[in-house]
Amino acid sequence: MEEAPNKQIVFRDFIVGNPKETDMELKVGKVGLKVPEGSGAVLVKNLYLSCDPYMRGRMREYYDSYIPPFAPGSVIEGFGVSKVVASDHPNFKAGDLVSGITGWEEYTLIQKFDQFRKIQSVDIPLSYHVGLLGMPGFTAYAGFYEVCSPKKGEYVFVSAASGAVGQLVGQLAKIYGCYVVGSAGTKQKVNLLKNKLGFDEAFNYKEEPDLDAALKRCLPQGIDIYFDNVGGAMLDAVLLNMRLHGRIAVCGMVSQKSMSGAEGIHNLFMLITKRVRMRGFLQSDYLNLFPQFVDQIINYYKQGKIVYIEDMNEGLESAPAALVGLFSGKNVGKQVICVSAD
Ligand code: NAP
Repeated sequence: MEEAPNKQIVFRDFIVGNPKETDMELKVGKVGLKVPEGSGAVLVKNLYLSCDPYMRGRMREYYDSYIPPFAPGSVIEGFGVSKVVASDHPNFKAGDLVSGITGWEEYTLIQKFDQFRKIQSVDIPLSYHVGLLGMPGFTAYAGFYEVCSPKKGEYVFVSAASGAVGQLVGQLAKIYGCYVVGSAGTKQKVNLLKNKLGFDEAFNYKEEPDLDAALKRCLPQGIDIYFDNVGGAMLDAVLLNMRLHGRIAVCGMVSQKSMSGAEGIHNLFMLITKRVRMRGFLQSDYLNLFPQFVDQIINYYKQGKIVYIEDMNEGLESAPAALVGLFSGKNVGKQVICVSAD
């Protein structure tokens, strides 16, 4: 079979704490350019790859999670947008554009098809299928509408608000008629929240000596809905500011390095006094809503009601640094890697 060189990012070994660039290495493997007959597999050329915080969890040897760890020495896996090169699968043919779980490499032989979809809407930037129209966008959609149970006029607070998930949560909450405040880690991100993403108010949590005071300043009436992307000290401060019958959607805990639990949370008693509902969720629990999500978000996007900020790095080689950067807030918007433009 004809073969081609295949640049790959390989996971070295299990880690403790946040990933480092040296936890991954660039290798050049080989790929067969045909799909074995009867295999049901699809060979794709990867165009865009997504960097997502959950990938840190897959670099740990064991933790009780919804997704298994990467195997040391294997190619990193993640969401991507790809073009079908060859197919032995009835639903896909050469030339189709697809999104789903792929490898951090130039070419991947796809054999598992969970959350793997043919891209229909080609008049939207292709890379949005790992962001606005992909897993992070869907997380914002399912989390906001299904977990937050919003009501018009409510006070909403979003942490990591300029990121892949947060920026859409804030915009959906604004469209719904809520008052929306976001926190982010730089002045530039705070400016984007207020001037591009339509948040009513925003603050840089790294410049606030007292998070409770910052929340009381920006949300003097208190918080009805907290969309929690970070956990830790911010969650603790939010608990002191929740309104009666408030809801906390626990989406992620990117601040918790060990991921061994809710470290240092002292104010959980507020759940009782304010009768707050705090609920963790996974976007994958709501996949039945994916078609309606795509329709609604495409409509909003085409009507100019929402925008989406991406942070695009060029070249597969840039992927390890981009993934590492998520954990210090280097990304401004959804972190994507462009492997090949076509
Ligand atoms: P993202 O916000 O685009 O990128 C991560 C951001 O987290 C960074 O830019 C940084 O922003 C912030 N951050 C990093 N370290 C932090 C720390 N120590 N304290 C506070 N903030 C920190 O990532 P995303 O893809 O939108 O994901 C956001 C959250 O949603 C993550 O926790 C992720 O695990 C979670 N998630 C959950 C689901 C689900 O199904 N439950 C699905 C997707 C994502 P700043 O500069 O603002 O600090």
